Amino acid sequence: MWYVMNKQNGKKLRLFEINVILPLFEYMISYKQKEVDENFDSYLEQIKNQNIIELNKIKKTNQKLYCIRKREQLLTSENKKIDLLIYICKRKYNKKKFLDSVDKLLRLDEIRLRYQYYCYLQQKRELKSKKRCIDDFKSKNDGISLEWQVIFCDFYYKKFFTNEKIWSMIGEKKLTRDEFHDNFRNDNNIYVCPYCDLNYNHDVGILEIEHFLPKSKYPFLAMNPLNLYSACVTCNKPSKGKGDKVIRPITMPYYEDIGRKMNFFIDITEKKISIKGKNLKIENYIHLLQLQERYSSKGNYEHIQRKIKSFYQTLKDSKDKKIIDNIDEFQKYIEEVTKPKECTCYFILSDFFKNNRGELQ
Ligand SMILES: [Zn+2]
Repeated sequence: MWYVMNKQNGKKLRLFEINVILPLFEYMISYKQKEVDENFDSYLEQIKNQNIIELNKIKKTNQKLYCIRKREQLLTSENKKIDLLIYICKRKYNKKKFLDSVDKLLRLDEIRLRYQYYCYLQQKRELKSKKRCIDDFKSKNDGISLEWQVIFCDFYYKKFFTNEKIWSMIGEKKLTRDEFHDNFRNDNNIYVCPYCDLNYNHDVGILEIEHFLPKSKYPFLAMNPLNLYSACVTCNKPSKGKGDKVIRPITMPYYEDIGRKMNFFIDITEKKISIKGKNLKIENYIHLLQLQERYSSKGNYEHIQRKIKSFYQTLKDSKDKKIIDNIDEFQKYIEEVTKPKECTCYFILSDFFKNNRGELQ
């Protein structure tokens, strides 16, 4: 419900994209273009060897021309990426070989392969776009081969995400899941789950890396930092949270402060909480995360009630009661007491006190 960013993890995942995801697409397309007979990994070896021959020639010429140095840098960096791809091609996960998935995809013709690359780039663009709403993904997901599911979800996300060797070949320290949560917390100075504002995220043990658009349906977004959240376990559960449901149109915490676009009502006689979104995207978000039911649960209702009581008490004890008369001062006071992003249930408490300011006076 809080507007958040994913800068540090984003930087790291961008390096993974530049060194692994994009080169794989590009070398697969060039393999199809050249109509070579050998296997994909031998094809990569061949390019690497050609590059080495050229690099040796450059060294012998001993020229310091700018364009020659540039060419040398380019070939060296290309060979690094090829080495990484050759290494990756040899990996196995659950008895599946990475290279087998690549081979299956290479049975497609060049146009279809290019189309899938286009879909990858297009989905990435759409997620990042300023439209600030997810509603146009369906068509771009048609025609994506199932094999990408194995590559992006099983290999990239499950196996390579924390693989020390791969990260060291990229030139980075490995990204552990705990580090992901730490980075996320530090980027946002947040101590509550950004999805629900109901649970804390102090303890990494109760956190999960959650794909807003589920990786089972959107494999191309499995490693996209704008699709990955450090969220509480409940939010990730299909029974109580979002699971791998998709509802459109919808917004998400990387786009806006969703909690500020909700209205909360506390029914004291019925002991129920109802939440209304200010537009359809917010309504769908409430529905997706089952927030209505979760906020109204007995345990949560009582928790909120306790917080309200303690707020009243603090206000009663406070020496300066004038704060209630001034709406801005009052708002500031609520922020001080409820500690946004540090304590859970900020949005509902803030709404409640604003709506009941009259009674406090
Ligand atoms: Zn949550």
